[in-house]
Amino acid sequence: MTETTAPVENQQSQELQSLLTQQRQAYMANPSPDREQRVNDLRTLARMIREHQDDLVKAVSADYGNRSHHETLFAEIFPALDGIKDTIKRLKKWMKPQRRHIDITAFPTSSTKVIPQPLGVVGVIVPWNFPINLSFGPLINIFAAGNRAMVKMSENSRNLTALLKRISGDYFPQDKLVFLEETGGVGIEFSALKFDHLIFTGSGATGRKVMAAAAANLTPVTLELGGKSPAIVGPDYDTDTAVERVLFWKLFNAGQICTTVDYLLLPEEKVEAFVEKAKKVFKKRYPEIQHADYTSVIDEGSFQRIWQTLDDALAKGATAIDLTDGQGSREDPLKKFPAHLLINVSEDMDVMKREIFGPLLPIKTYNSREEVADYINSGDRPLAIYPFTKDKELRDYYIDHVMSGGVSVNNAVLHVGQHDIPFGGVGESGMGHYHGYEGFLTFSKLRPVFYQGPLDPLKLLMPPYGNLANKMMKLMLRLTK
Ligand code: NAD
Repeated sequence: MTETTAPVENQQSQELQSLLTQQRQAYMANPSPDREQRVNDLRTLARMIREHQDDLVKAVSADYGNRSHHETLFAEIFPALDGIKDTIKRLKKWMKPQRRHIDITAFPTSSTKVIPQPLGVVGVIVPWNFPINLSFGPLINIFAAGNRAMVKMSENSRNLTALLKRISGDYFPQDKLVFLEETGGVGIEFSALKFDHLIFTGSGATGRKVMAAAAANLTPVTLELGGKSPAIVGPDYDTDTAVERVLFWKLFNAGQICTTVDYLLLPEEKVEAFVEKAKKVFKKRYPEIQHADYTSVIDEGSFQRIWQTLDDALAKGATAIDLTDGQGSREDPLKKFPAHLLINVSEDMDVMKREIFGPLLPIKTYNSREEVADYINSGDRPLAIYPFTKDKELRDYYIDHVMSGGVSVNNAVLHVGQHDIPFGGVGESGMGHYHGYEGFLTFSKLRPVFYQGPLDPLKLLMPPYGNLANKMMKLMLRLTK
């Protein structure tokens, strides 16, 4: 390095700033793309995915060590493509300016409209766990709303990011879309840019830093965070069905889903049946955890963290049921963590204090619905709750008494995949929404416009304020009753 070369961080932030400037200038030159342009962007996004589908799937798997190809197709490629299709279908309705009512001050010839307009340049910060879904998902809403985007990927998505950086230029100019890798400190520089909106998906700890950096620019943020989402199996609910569904989601992506069932609340009398059925279901689905269907833990640090979580629970008196019958190894180069159920858990254990993000399922027993509601409400507001019951009153009790980002009833996670409902956390699990119409709104400025008509009733209210103005004010105030 010569003495005149700028330090790496400076270069980095200059490059980021220059990309932002390019995107902002392009936005200024075409601030409100019409529907045809937006649909074209969305179709191009779909083409980019379709033409590189196999490579995308392989890249994610390489980043994990092993990621089930089916799970990548099901939870990343399919929702992105289907989300694009759904958005194109609805976009005309979403973009239509809405006529609104007028008040007495505008009566009778003036009018109002609300026009959704693009915000400009949106920053997207992506975690590693569903890196295609969590980059393309926001991009669908961002492009539908007519914006441009800079997308910062995770340090754990190196292969995928290299691929996206290589191919995206064939589909979009960099003043429309650019992918950035995390090379140490980029995230910090990135969240300090003066975006028109910033959407962050990741942990609460990082979310706080991102929000603090954005605050300096008054950049609005959407934070998609994590937490401990419980499944609550009601006394009436069929235990076998609960096992089938809870285990599917707990083991999908090896438990590394923000909305996975973090822990289970179960009536005491159901525990034995649940455990026995879980052993059978697991054996049938994953006879060998070295099989490609069983996803790896993302990195060595996370792998060891989950082992420590298990050790901590055992040391504090939990009973562990190893569903794999001892197939796991702490030295496994593929980092396949053996699925365990944990019973007799207590609040001092890490497994009950922190988001697990791995294939450990603690089972906590309860005696009444009030006890369940009090327990969940005493912690951070979760990203989701999953009541399993056919009793409508009990179902609604949980929906009414326990606040969470979202709810799936008699299953888990599925509300996240529905295009026509918003997705987002509340409290510690996040703020703001995306997906569907609410996502379109998140990345739009709802522009209220007042159109003065030929008749102007305010003329009657202008100074010098005399009798006429008094009468008018009296009438107006009377009409408020
Ligand atoms: P993370 O918070 O460590 O990282 C997320 C992203 O932020 C990465 O791109 C990372 O490089 C970047 N980053 C790290 N430090 C930064 C900083 N100081 N400034 C700006 N950016 C920074 O999270 P992770 O380990 O990648 O993902 C796991 C977490 O994400 C879990 O808590 C999970 O629940 C949550 N998550 C939430 C959702 C959701 O939709 N709500 C979805 C997936 C994951």
